[in-house]
Amino acid sequence: LRQLIIGFTLSCLATGAVIAQEISPQTLTQAASLRDTALQSDIAWDVLESLTTEVGPRMAGSPADAKAVAWGQAKLTSLGFDKVWTEAVTVPVWRCLHESAYIESPFAQPLTIAALGGSVSTPKGGLKAEIIHFNSYEDLVASPANSAKGKIVYISNKMERHPSGRGYGQAGPARFMGPAEAAKKGAIALVIRSVGTDSQRSPHTGMTNYEDGVKKIPAAALSNPDADQMDRILNRNKNITLSLNIVTETAKDTVSYNVIGEITGSEHPEQIVAIGGHLDSWDQGTGAVDDGAGIAITVAAAKLIAQQQRPKRTIRVVMFAAEEIGVFGGNQYALVHKDELKNHIIGAESDGGAGNVLALSSNVGRQSLHAIDAMLALMAPLNVVRSDRVSGGSADFGPMVKAGMPAVGLEQDHSEYFDIHHTPDDTLNKVHPDQLAQNVAAWAIFVKIAADWEGHFDR
Ligand SMILES: [Zn+2]
Repeated sequence: LRQLIIGFTLSCLATGAVIAQEISPQTLTQAASLRDTALQSDIAWDVLESLTTEVGPRMAGSPADAKAVAWGQAKLTSLGFDKVWTEAVTVPVWRCLHESAYIESPFAQPLTIAALGGSVSTPKGGLKAEIIHFNSYEDLVASPANSAKGKIVYISNKMERHPSGRGYGQAGPARFMGPAEAAKKGAIALVIRSVGTDSQRSPHTGMTNYEDGVKKIPAAALSNPDADQMDRILNRNKNITLSLNIVTETAKDTVSYNVIGEITGSEHPEQIVAIGGHLDSWDQGTGAVDDGAGIAITVAAAKLIAQQQRPKRTIRVVMFAAEEIGVFGGNQYALVHKDELKNHIIGAESDGGAGNVLALSSNVGRQSLHAIDAMLALMAPLNVVRSDRVSGGSADFGPMVKAGMPAVGLEQDHSEYFDIHHTPDDTLNKVHPDQLAQNVAAWAIFVKIAADWEGHFDR
């Protein structure tokens, strides 16, 4: 602890004229104790086990989503949160009823696919066409107009495995924007290699974004081994004919809810440390790592802090609605709490799975950098280091951060996350209890210091 305090003094001096508000020794001692308690605590695991078992898959706007909302309220209440409430969010309702693909020639055989989120249906009975192959989304963009006329575009690039998850940014555009781009080139459908790093026959879904004024074409992802198969066939014969049958349904918009629970602050109840994850999941798995883990980690951190001593500021946990299909809960939250923006002292979302926290990023002002240093010092035994990234607050807090809310990011190990992200394999047995506990320990340190320190993080 002494070393920590010396460290703070030095970093305060280093920030020059900025006057830094000190963190009390008691807060630091309590945060260290919380860390050690969190590593032994089962709260997060129990919350995650409960959500994935009692609710399971919970696609936004589905009957299971309504069950998840009821589950969230009951869980926060039973854990002793001081206030628990819901806020309505209007969400679109999309469902996949059927998805299949078949190589007609040259080597007839079935393929395993998942329709991309939001995909339109193929014509009744399916469609059949030759494919045109592109190595990447960028190659598709660079191709001449009408280059894919009447064909099924196939994009084949593989996602890189990396702890930072950077491969998602590189391979992701094929899913995010591929269908719209393929339609611009005259294609009648799109198939992509899954945006995922596994070798299982488990295709990865995820939202795609059609463009206004561009024809909506059906789109699906092949599992990685199916994409390998396509590539081997392409090496022998460029002329592959594929049939594709996708049946989806878009129902009338419905109402889902952000579920919110608070531990009321003892000295500054109006000041909020906002944390959370998203409650919805894709339809195939049980949403254990995406994002049941984020819900469990943040609920557990708040609960452990409350158990030790009432925080000075209010800790607010938000279970966001409908993130996967377009950040509807996050956008609604920013709208509803616009006037409360300045009371949001800092915010952070856990939405990167259940792997260990590796690094801490932030976007805070210079006068509060020593508070981030203090968090990092306490997180050192957890092997958390300073990130060189600036935190954007993750998807759901993105709109609040854009409006000016300070944020931190607890960046998780993504080495294995994209093996199961958005697949039927996103289930509880992929979560390591010790890694989940490491997350809670890191979050407890961050939230404790943010809630009890008297200073401000203002950018
Ligand atoms: Zn997520």
